[in-house]
Amino acid sequence: MPIASTNPATGEILETFTALTATELEERILRASAAFGAWRLTSFESRAIRMRRAADILVAEKQHLGAMMTLEMGKPIGAAVAEVEKCALACRYYADKSSRLLASYSVDVLDGEGAVYFQPLGVVLAVMPWNFPFWQVFRFVAPALMAGNTGLLKHSSNVPRSALAIEDVLTRAGFPEGVFQTLLVGSAEVEAIVSHPGVAAVTLTGSEGAGRSIAESAGRNLKKAVLELGGSDPFIVMPSADVKKAAATGVTARMINNGQSCIAAKRFIVHDEVYDEFLEKFVGAVKAIRMGDPMDPATDLGPLATADIRDELSAQVEKTVSLGARAVCGGRIPDGLTGFYYEPTVLVDIPASSPASDEELFGPVASVWRVGSIDEAISLANSSRFGLGASVWTNESAERERFVRDIESGMVFVNAMVASEPALPFGGVKASGYGRELGEFGIREFVNIKSVKQGLGSAPASRTE
Ligand code: NAP
Repeated sequence: MPIASTNPATGEILETFTALTATELEERILRASAAFGAWRLTSFESRAIRMRRAADILVAEKQHLGAMMTLEMGKPIGAAVAEVEKCALACRYYADKSSRLLASYSVDVLDGEGAVYFQPLGVVLAVMPWNFPFWQVFRFVAPALMAGNTGLLKHSSNVPRSALAIEDVLTRAGFPEGVFQTLLVGSAEVEAIVSHPGVAAVTLTGSEGAGRSIAESAGRNLKKAVLELGGSDPFIVMPSADVKKAAATGVTARMINNGQSCIAAKRFIVHDEVYDEFLEKFVGAVKAIRMGDPMDPATDLGPLATADIRDELSAQVEKTVSLGARAVCGGRIPDGLTGFYYEPTVLVDIPASSPASDEELFGPVASVWRVGSIDEAISLANSSRFGLGASVWTNESAERERFVRDIESGMVFVNAMVASEPALPFGGVKASGYGRELGEFGIREFVNIKSVKQGLGSAPASRTE
């Protein structure tokens, strides 16, 4: 894929970029490695000063940065601006909390003094997706740099402007040269970067296919990897739920970011007793969605990020319908709109072994199932090979406990849509990947957990922060 910024609302190529040469790439990896030598020795406070400055820049420039994202990948402008603000929140969270989250501590040992330290690993490669071009990067970069690592970003080839803008924000915030760099390279270069002796670890947020490929490279090189992959999250509605609220939240949970979110609710599993009521309200709200220019603040749903993504979604819907599903609304590429639009769609009567049942639908398409019991709901939820998040709607505590205990996912949200926030660990199980971002677990992914034991009678250890 060429490295280019294309406006998905019009198809117009805004700017193309030349990929780094092999020599330039090597220089940047060596620069990151050299920068690590000094950066790892800086104090949490000096890192935090820069991280707070980055937050200030993001907030001050949120309109401009948000508009850049919208032009490059099509998310509604209000959501783009909110995404920049959320990045500032993550910068501040880790600026404030990292010294505590990575504080060394004493442990009882058999004879002597024991302690555990958290030390940075080195240069971490981040391979990132286009769907949240700023947030995905900042939720990696804030903890990784605060822990004392240096970062290399290989962003999606369709969001080079965002990739370069992030480097620019961090440079202006005062992070020393080499602490964070953007690499304009294609995915074919990732294997070589992971294999490079100057790179210590890799994190990917992206598709299952990219996950398998990067996990292989990391495995061959025995390097630490964190994988945040796709999802086909269930959204379960039980009879005791507030059905009106569930339907309204469900539409947001499915259509957020033009339907292109890993944690979007993708499979709606509704109890028979409230199925008709839920479907009527849900479809009514989907039909009311305003699709159009994402730069217009009144727009709810913009285009998909690329023509390929739109065409793949369209093929998945067509196949699901040809196997017996019914589109209650939408189900088509709209007429008369340039750009990569797809109509907001609701599918029912979904057959087993169809794309809507087995694959991730990465766009504004909701699939709705009817079930007769909580057992059936859990079994259907767990039938997916993915296991990222789950949203469950019930006001019965026994049902709540069953969902929390039995749903195979990294996250369960009760009477709320699945969403990320700085303090809550984020990640999945099964084909949704492994490792966690955010919270205390996120910052501890890219550290050396070093055990120190001091024999009896030797000088006492002086521990750093
Ligand atoms: P993608 O095609 O996997 O691309 C993600 C990144 O991986 C891009 O930088 C891409 O580079 C690179 N890449 C692609 N194939 C690769 C390979 N074989 N080896 C090494 N790198 C490779 O995914 P996407 O279409 O951008 O994003 C959508 C997917 O990401 C969905 O499945 C979504 O659910 C998932 N996602 C997961 C999370 C999460 O936190 N779990 C969050 C957001 C999105 P190029 O652009 O140069 O190809």
